[in-house]
Amino acid sequence: VIQICLPLNALGFLFREARDALTNAEKLRQMLALRPEIEESARATPLTVTRGEVIFEHVDFSYEPGRQVLWDVSFRIGPGQTVAVVGGSGSGKSTLARLLLRTYDPQRGRVLIDDCDISMVTLESLRAAVGVVPQDSTLFNESVAYNIAYGRPGASMVEIIEAAKAAQIDELIASLPQHFDTLVGERGLKLSGGEKQRIAIARAFLKNAPIMLLDEATSALDTRSEKAIQTQLDRLAAHRTTLVIAHRLSTIVDADHILVLDKGRIVEQGGHEELLSRRGLYAQLWDLQLQKQEFDRLERKLVRQP
Ligand code: ADP
Ligand code: MG
Repeated sequence: VIQICLPLNALGFLFREARDALTNAEKLRQMLALRPEIEESARATPLTVTRGEVIFEHVDFSYEPGRQVLWDVSFRIGPGQTVAVVGGSGSGKSTLARLLLRTYDPQRGRVLIDDCDISMVTLESLRAAVGVVPQDSTLFNESVAYNIAYGRPGASMVEIIEAAKAAQIDELIASLPQHFDTLVGERGLKLSGGEKQRIAIARAFLKNAPIMLLDEATSALDTRSEKAIQTQLDRLAAHRTTLVIAHRLSTIVDADHILVLDKGRIVEQGGHEELLSRRGLYAQLWDLQLQKQEFDRLERKLVRQP
């Protein structure tokens, strides 16, 4: 029995290995077919933003075959409006941002800016039109000035200082050993999460793009930085078409429109009061946010006590 079992087991093992190798190869092939590098159409023209209207039209998206991440997502951000996206972790919020920047193309549906399908415009013009303040911005091992000007190469020193003021990081910079020439990043001066985010905000002010993408994640920030950043982010969003992945309660309440994402689908949308009164997922998420805020407040109080 043993003599028979062993080779059979070995065969079974080999078979499973071979099968996995095959499925992996198949998966890889499908993935490559699914996501050819984002390419510029041969007929691509530069995007000119006039009004700054953003439309997602019946967008389906998957990163890999068999795992759809967005399902028939449609929404509109009117010129100068702010649309907030809320939803649990993994619900697809950041994926919306990636599609707007055309890091990926949807498998179905379209993303339009001022009636122009973004897959038909040059990538350079698209990325120039959209300013981004990411969740966790990494800095280059370069000077503060370089890091702020990154959004708009060739910016003058006067403009860089102006942007630093707008992001309220000018005082901090004045206190650095070499001011705007101080090296920051991994090999330079280490800045806190809040300071890094303010550099990203300065960068976005300098870029002055008509469309703004904000991925708020204020959990890493202390209360004082969060308050300071709140004001700056609000100013950045004012008069610009803004898609914000909202974590702050104030953003959610003040948004012109709120999208509630659940497992890649918009399950509710509307204004804050309207959504609260539906007593659905939004109301649940809202309660959670309130509880979290209260919990954080108590935690900080405890930490402060000797
Ligand atoms: P959220 O920002 O709401 O937390 P994401 O948009 O980042 O969610 O992710 C939505 C889903 O897509 C998640 O299930 C996540 O695991 C998956 N996902 C995100 N990025 C990738 C990727 N590069 N490759 C494969 N799956 C991804
Ligand atoms: Mg995210």
